[in-house]
Amino acid sequence: MPSSFDEHNPPKPELLSDCVHCGFCLPTCPTYQLWGEEMDSPRGRIHLMNLATEGQIPIDDSFAKHFDACLGCMACVSSCPSGVQYDQLIEAVRPQIERAVPRTVADRLFRGLIFSVFPFPARLRVVALGAWLYQVSGLRWLLHTSGFLRLLPARLQALEALMPPVTLRNIFSRHRGVRRPIGETRRRVALIAGCVQQVFFAEVNKATVRVLLAEGCEVITPKQECCGALSVHAGREDEGLARARKMIQSFEDLDVDDIVVNVAGCGSTLKEYGGLLADDPEFAIRAAEFSAKVRDISEVLAELPPQAPRHPIAARVAYHDACHLAHGQQIRKQPRDVLRTIPELELLEVPESELCCGSAGTYNMVQPEAGEELGNRKAANILHTRPDAVTTGNPGCLLQIARYLDGVPLFHPIELIDASIRGVNLLTATASNLSDANPQTTLSSSSKLRAVGE
Ligand code: SF4
Ligand code: SF4
Repeated sequence: MPSSFDEHNPPKPELLSDCVHCGFCLPTCPTYQLWGEEMDSPRGRIHLMNLATEGQIPIDDSFAKHFDACLGCMACVSSCPSGVQYDQLIEAVRPQIERAVPRTVADRLFRGLIFSVFPFPARLRVVALGAWLYQVSGLRWLLHTSGFLRLLPARLQALEALMPPVTLRNIFSRHRGVRRPIGETRRRVALIAGCVQQVFFAEVNKATVRVLLAEGCEVITPKQECCGALSVHAGREDEGLARARKMIQSFEDLDVDDIVVNVAGCGSTLKEYGGLLADDPEFAIRAAEFSAKVRDISEVLAELPPQAPRHPIAARVAYHDACHLAHGQQIRKQPRDVLRTIPELELLEVPESELCCGSAGTYNMVQPEAGEELGNRKAANILHTRPDAVTTGNPGCLLQIARYLDGVPLFHPIELIDASIRGVNLLTATASNLSDANPQTTLSSSSKLRAVGE
């Protein structure tokens, strides 16, 4: 029977046939862990792709349901002994679903809202300004205490609950230009500023620049737009590839050793540009050259012997592996090694570290129930380590974990390195800030720490 997939980049049969159905991936798959359904496991999803390739099942709502539920966390890639490239398979399937399966009106509107705001920093700044007013005016407190928010649909509740704390300084900070280190330049790097990152996590970018300068790097932050990671992960292929091409154009004339990224989700897509644009005659080589230069900030720092003295941070810090760093880029050792350069910092390993926290790009907004179950499970595992603080290299994970982990401050690892170099005592300053118990406390713990580091 003819394939149910259309002819544009269907899942490759030679990749599908790599799966020997052994089931080693099942314990690491969050959706299989939640529901125990074979069709919500990597093996089951590969079986569905095989059936669709053979034309035995259609690409319809029921097919889409199992792939929409997949977080794209790539834990199955890490755990598969046969080297099944599920990452390539899911990225081939998602655009097929977007083309073949009509979404409901509510679904279209919600996804349209996300994709008309998140990839645009200028629009995000407007939204952030509204969020700032919402937070400082007391309206948020009022809506939480009155119970009004519980009347909203689950997706809107999730969107509201994940709203990061906003500062005016972050909304209006700019991230362009060239910064040179004092003394010898050991490396020349270009920085990916990110979309959500530059508006809601501006202090992470500032910390990144400070640390790179302290370690002897010249840092160039060019004018840039969204890298397309959110679009690629959601199957919005044309949109994602158009953004990838623009990103390449923004960076390709820079004479730099590395293109540095401090967002795990963006980093994994930036490293894939070569593969994503392999069939584009104008961009194939340029994309491969771009991807070859992309490094997570932890990779760059792990390769550079530290030159800036570190001050002690006497704290038990739980490290959460962001999926797009650990599984998507196989980066586990470097962030741990870099954090261990901080004297007196005790690094803690979280049980079930391979399991996604439920953030996964837009997953916790479009699949809020599963996102909540995974968020609570991650928070319980983190609490098991009795940490003074939590650190992870992805802003989506920071927000997701902060939502479910009350009273424990969160940081991006680069903020801890920055604080250690500058001798800032983040934990002491934060503990006093955490005393004001209100509906924003769980969301604002991370920002309170970052505010100290600014
Ligand atoms: S994806 Fe890999 S681990 Fe999972 S069933 Fe197939 S071969 Fe086994
Ligand atoms: S990407 Fe994650 S959620 Fe999807 S099948 Fe693999 S392990 Fe499961």
